[in-house]
Order: sequence, then C-alpha cells, then structure tokens
Amino acid sequence: MSSDPVLVVHGGAWAMPDDMVEAHLRGVRNALASGWHVLERGGAALDAIEEAVVIMEDDETFDAGRGSFLNRDGKVQMDALIMDGATLRAGGVGCVERLPNPVRAARKILSESPHVYFVGEGAERFAAEHGVEWCSNEELVIPREVERLREYQQKAAGQVSAKDGKDLFAPAISHDTVGAVALDRDGNIAAATSTGGTLNKAPGRLGDSSLIGCGCYADNLSAAVSTTGWGEPIMKLVLAKWTADRVSAGNLPQWAAQEAMNYLAQRLNGHGGIIVLNAQGQIGIAHNTPRMAWAVKTAKKEEAGIECGAS
Ligand code: ASP
Repeated sequence: MSSDPVLVVHGGAWAMPDDMVEAHLRGVRNALASGWHVLERGGAALDAIEEAVVIMEDDETFDAGRGSFLNRDGKVQMDALIMDGATLRAGGVGCVERLPNPVRAARKILSESPHVYFVGEGAERFAAEHGVEWCSNEELVIPREVERLREYQQKAAGQVSAKDGKDLFAPAISHDTVGAVALDRDGNIAAATSTGGTLNKAPGRLGDSSLIGCGCYADNLSAAVSTTGWGEPIMKLVLAKWTADRVSAGNLPQWAAQEAMNYLAQRLNGHGGIIVLNAQGQIGIAHNTPRMAWAVKTAKKEEAGIECGAS
C-alpha cells in the first residue's frame, strides 16, 4: 500500500530575535523544497532528509556545516546522525572538522559500512575514501562566529572573576541545530540531525544530536524523531527514543512531542525542541523555548513557522 509522503524539518529552538526570523524561515523552506523534490518523485525518506539537511548545513544561518558555532579553541567541530526506520541502519559522525556536509558522511556510513559511528580523523578518512567532499576547518569558520566566540569568552571571563554564580555551562543562547524527518511512498520513515554543537564547547565534546536515541531516532514501528536544544540534558534522558517509545505505545506524535518537552523541562530543567513523525504520517512539533524554526510539507499543505502551540 502506498503512503502519502510527509516531510518535516527544523532549524533550531531558542529565543530567536525578530531580525533573524526571516533567515530561519527561508532556510527551513529551502530545505523543505529540496527534500520534497525527492519524495514527490517517489524517492526514499532517507534520501529526502539527507538533501534537506544538506541545504541547512550549507546555509550559514544555522549551527551546522559552515557557520557553525566555534568551540573553545575557535574551531568548528560537528556531529551528525542519519537513521533509517525500515532497517534501523544508522550512520553517525562525531567531532569532524573538515567536512562541509557531515550528514553526507553519516549517510555513507549507513549505506556502506558495517559500523555505525565514526569520530574525528577516522570519520574524515572514511568520508574521503567514500568520495565525500572535504574542506579546511578555516573554510567553515565565518566572521560572525569569531566575533560571537570572542564576546562570549570575554563575558565568561568577567563572570568567573566576579564569581556571580551564573551557570556558564547551561547555554541559554542560540540552538540552531538542524534536523529532518520524512515518510516516503513506500511507507518508510527516516530521521537526520546535524550540528556544530554549543558555543565555546570543550574540544571533543559531543552533544545529543548525533547519538542514536538522543538527538535522532527512526523506527518504522514507532517514529522518526529529531531534537535540538541543550544537548547534555537531552542525552541524559535519551529523549528521541523516549519519545518514539511513547508513540509506539499508541500515543499521537503531537502528544509525545509535547510530553518530551515537559519531561525535559521538569526532570532536568532542559530546553529545546523536537519534531516527530510516524509511519502513518502523523506529526508532532513542540519546543519549550520561545521559538523554533520548523516547516512541514504534505501533498495537501505546506507550512512554516517559528512558534507552535506547544511552547
Ligand atoms: N543539541 C545541540 C548540542 O547540544 C545543540 C543545538 O541543538 O543547537 O550539541
């Protein structure tokens, strides 16, 4: 039986200022168009989410690919995961520094490796051996982020000396991670998440985004999920799998998405956003941050926004 395709993307959840709304909406709409192009021709959900995420990695608006946040050393260090709900095959990369499109490397791992996850140099070597585009780390660094890091480090130094007790490890600024979930005509779902992580993170720090079940998960029997937000609490709660389990228990994706955000806030004072899709084409979008860039497309409608009833 053939399914009506569905595509949902997000471009991060945070207190996005008004002057950044347009760029985020444009970015998620472009991603939607690219992924939909695959789905409408009968392509696989896996291919659609890869293409959608590549568009957002290439867009400097988002914290993924070029334009990512910088780590403490001033370098871009990225994580990505892609997962196929039909087979549970997955591909992940962590702490890569020389790939403009980490999701492409993740996809190659899913399709062409017996392994599931590669980090650092080994991930980059795997990518090169499989024809994935490389670049220098400098090419991924943009002036906006150099300035943002400088300001943050200056402020942080002041706070430490003032000992005002502020938690510097709870990034309250932006979360521009990108993600996509899709359902294809064959009834298969898939999910992908890609990120530059959090601003001023320690080198080697990995967040939730690329960890199976934390920032991304897909299983035809439950749901495809992608999260964004403060990674440490999301990881501790294994939040994507937690949400998918609630869908497989018979709950609607929208309910599960909202519950996940409540759980994140109540259990660990975490903040973020989530998109959820099941193999019946039912979707969930929620965030406990003031805003989250999202977009949805089906054969009947196309919508994009920065707020949803759930926040
Ligand atoms: N979740 C990501 C991380 O902690 C950040 C984000 O969503 O923007 O690495």
